[in-house]
Amino acid sequence: MYITNIKHLIDASAKMPEEMPAEARDLIGFLIQIIDTTTKTLPNTLTSTEVKCFKKGCDGQIKSALRPDNDEIHWFCPDCEEEGLINSWQGTGWDHRITA
Ligand SMILES: [Zn+2]
Repeated sequence: MYITNIKHLIDASAKMPEEMPAEARDLIGFLIQIIDTTTKTLPNTLTSTEVKCFKKGCDGQIKSALRPDNDEIHWFCPDCEEEGLINSWQGTGWDHRITA
């Protein structure tokens, strides 16, 4: 289970991009895609997205949902069964609720 405060992660990557391992940058890119697509549709239950799993060797298609109780984005890979929660995504550049 990955629990991510996306604002902290983006701040960290902006301050010291060269110190951030490639896997961490891959993870940020992956999480940003999930925020981007989930905030367009705001599904309450796990719904298939276009986002591919970030795990090497896994070709799973990520499902995501917005938890109505605490506004966290829940993502899940049906192939490798990895999952995570993203918080503090509100107001980032990938929050599409504002323009929706
Ligand atoms: Zn996977």
